[in-house]
Amino acid sequence: MAYKTVNPYNNELVKTYPDATAEEIEEALANGHALYKKWRDEPVTSRAAILHKIADLLREHEDELAKIATIDMGKLYNESKGEVELCAIIADYFADNGADLLKPTPINSRNTGDAQVYHQATGVLMMVEPWNFPYYQIMRVFAPNFMVGNPMLLKHASNTPASAAAFEKIVNEAGAPKGTFKNLFASYDQVSDIIADPRVQGVALTGSKRGGQSVAQTAGKYLKKNSMELGGSDAFVVLSDADVDKAVDLAWRVRIYNAGQVCTSDKRFIVADNLYDEFLEKLKANFSKLVPGDPMDPKTTLAPMNSKRAKEKLQGQIDKAVENGAKVYYGNQPIDLPGQFIQPTILTNVEKDNPEFYDEFFGPVAQVFKVHSDQEAIDLANDSELGLGGIVVSADPQHGKSVAEKIETGMVFVNSFLVSLPELPFGGVKGSGYGRELSNLGLNAFTNEKLIVTA
Ligand code: NDP
Repeated sequence: MAYKTVNPYNNELVKTYPDATAEEIEEALANGHALYKKWRDEPVTSRAAILHKIADLLREHEDELAKIATIDMGKLYNESKGEVELCAIIADYFADNGADLLKPTPINSRNTGDAQVYHQATGVLMMVEPWNFPYYQIMRVFAPNFMVGNPMLLKHASNTPASAAAFEKIVNEAGAPKGTFKNLFASYDQVSDIIADPRVQGVALTGSKRGGQSVAQTAGKYLKKNSMELGGSDAFVVLSDADVDKAVDLAWRVRIYNAGQVCTSDKRFIVADNLYDEFLEKLKANFSKLVPGDPMDPKTTLAPMNSKRAKEKLQGQIDKAVENGAKVYYGNQPIDLPGQFIQPTILTNVEKDNPEFYDEFFGPVAQVFKVHSDQEAIDLANDSELGLGGIVVSADPQHGKSVAEKIETGMVFVNSFLVSLPELPFGGVKGSGYGRELSNLGLNAFTNEKLIVTA
């Protein structure tokens, strides 16, 4: 049984889950396809009440759901609660706005007659999601596609099965019709077979480059539309006019949130030379105050990483960076707890010839770089195979914005955390993938943009 919950705080095996059977998968596909055909004839508005009910149930069961996520993958309980609330906000947003956003778009055409683009459902979708936000990652695809009328199958990460099952339970409790959403404890081969099935019309994956390449390859083979939300090695650019205290206050929080396991968490801190020493010292001061411990305990401020495998991978990356010339400015000491903890670590002197220069550090490790001009900061920010998000900090918002415009990523925030909200598009460029989730772009990710011209 590949799917299991192992509590990353104490390594306890909590529960194993049975693998999906061929019959279960066939039933899910058949139910989904039948529902798609039924939904095609129903107005979008007919689904809004169920989506609001899902939001209500998420809020009602927030404590219980948060505990499940924390035990599955180790994040701080309060962060889990915040994630559940964000899911409810996303559900409410698409319930309130989905029908309007999906209204046909008129086109001014030189042709005679009335030209409109309809945004119609296409059919069953397969989603493949990661463990780091075990509810939010599902909701980003679920809420818009529920309104569109695309039924969904889920393959969640093998280490967050309890969260996947809990999400499915909420959808069913809200009264969603049979076939709306089915969680499957599926193998990679089963996922490939599902993508190949003619009833499936699209695939949404959030995860690593390797997972994305494999799933996108299958989707390409069967000509299935797909969106890929992959990793990020976002730059946090501190311009020379920035208030260093404000910059550091943002910096340590973005790097430590979710134990640093966030695709849009900034991993490369690019700091103007006049602020570099002070920034480093103050970042270290904040990192050193963090308290590792039980993520259910409100006094804990440093969560374990999600798994032994993840911790070992990150430790290997730190070691390799150091072997190749990086300096440990702070951290990289063992934490005397049984769970999968990594001490927050600051690396400097990661040069371009270091094999870790282009690697994504998916955990509480900050690489800090000194630059001598805005242009050098922009060039370094863009010297990455990935292009997901980023933050620019400046005392002058216009100055910050002018730098943000030159950064090659899908999202840049000036003087703010990079926040995910239902009305804002989420996604990247380059090796961070393609397509957008959330917003009207995400809503139309798997629609048939159908032109109807009436003469
Ligand atoms: P993986 O790609 O290994 O896992 C993500 C999901 O993909 C899991 O459900 C996994 O299943 C599944 N998967 C992986 N390979 C295949 C395959 N060949 N066929 C079918 N399913 C597959 O990613 P990680 O667990 O390593 O997650 C961290 C990565 O995800 C980081 O690189 C991070 O940046 C990225 N990420 C991107 C985000 C974004 O929104 N852009 C958000 C969060 C993370 P299983 O668990 O069974 O292996």
